[in-house]
Amino acid sequence: MIRLNEHYSKLKASYLFADIAKRVSAYVAAHPDQPVIRLGIGDVTEPLPPVCIAALHAATDEMAHRATFKGYGPEQGYAFLREAIAQHDFTAKGAPVEADEIFVSDGSKCDVANIQEIFASDIRIAIPDPVYPVYVDTNVMAGRTGANADGRYSGLVYLDSTAANGYVPAPPAEPADLIYLCFPNNPTGAVATRAQLEAWVAYAKQHGALILFDAAYEAFIRTPGIPRSIYEIPGARDVAIEFRSFSKLAGFTGLRCAYTVVPKTLKARDAAGQEHSVHALWSRRHTTKFNGVSYPVQKAAASVYTPEGQAQTHALTEFYLGNAKLIREAMGKLGFACIGGDNAPYIWVNVQRDSWEFFDLLLNQAQVVVTPGAGFGKCGEGHVRISAFNSRANVETALARIASALR
Ligand SMILES: *Cc1c(COP(=O)(O)O)cnc(C)c1O
Repeated sequence: MIRLNEHYSKLKASYLFADIAKRVSAYVAAHPDQPVIRLGIGDVTEPLPPVCIAALHAATDEMAHRATFKGYGPEQGYAFLREAIAQHDFTAKGAPVEADEIFVSDGSKCDVANIQEIFASDIRIAIPDPVYPVYVDTNVMAGRTGANADGRYSGLVYLDSTAANGYVPAPPAEPADLIYLCFPNNPTGAVATRAQLEAWVAYAKQHGALILFDAAYEAFIRTPGIPRSIYEIPGARDVAIEFRSFSKLAGFTGLRCAYTVVPKTLKARDAAGQEHSVHALWSRRHTTKFNGVSYPVQKAAASVYTPEGQAQTHALTEFYLGNAKLIREAMGKLGFACIGGDNAPYIWVNVQRDSWEFFDLLLNQAQVVVTPGAGFGKCGEGHVRISAFNSRANVETALARIASALR
């Protein structure tokens, strides 16, 4: 009989969101008269910006006529989108990136999941804790770890993000080859300063390592001086790949468009020590296994870079940041130490007790759903993540209920 990839059996069943759903539906069934407000989700709630809707309609009409119909497009994305991205997201912001270094895709989740396959299977991986689970699980599937014991896989270098380091890990003492970083962070909402990113770039240069920089929440950065791109750090073009998405920036979680930047200056070596272009390798992988994002969706993404698109997406992130500010202030007033929420749509609350216990308390006493930090890794214990993705009215009601439940 056909044999399985045994590495999948090492995966720690991710019961987090299933567990949450189970507890919430049990509560709702028992208390049908008490509506629950969900501040646990990592999905946007507001509709697409009007400029994107107009672009989708116009592109759909083009598909209706022989003269303007589009079949397969370039796998890496249409030039109109790659050029707009390079110009607006990088060149104009002092981060040198060229249009042909951009690979348009249907999501950053797939990109951060797939990128590891172009590297050797016996490299050392450094991963933050708490973490977006995709980074860990895809390396487990690829066989780069041992078994899971006590919430951690053997063979990984864990980068603890705790109150002690302000939830931004410094480079480890030991060498690593592939490093996952995410700023602004999911789940903590923490951002890295220029000096902190410079230390990571210096570490990568010293060890010949490669940084995978997930900037999915870049559009939420408001504090002046916080880098939006790893390429704002001199030398990063030699050591880093960056992932960006239209999901949180413009509400594309259901529409699907993202991109990955692979600088042509990035090199990796083969077993014989010979240097190769990482860009060439990723290009080979992307064009072989991916067939392009649909034309209407790429037109919608490009509309984000028009003046109206910039204003509308800014208003969207401002709206969520307004929710985040209310959440952070309210939790602070209740005596909890928090980070995030100022440059990210997540607030990471140090609840100083079991994270599931606090989850149950809020569900039962306030009918509010948050995400227990333990679900994001060992260092997430003692914390919960509160998401700012909801309506203002729901956020205000939830905060009032939390305050009266904890008073
Ligand atoms: C939401 C999110 C993404 C973006 O995912 P898409 O597949 O582009 O929707 C990437 N990384 C992190 C950490 C995220 O939270």
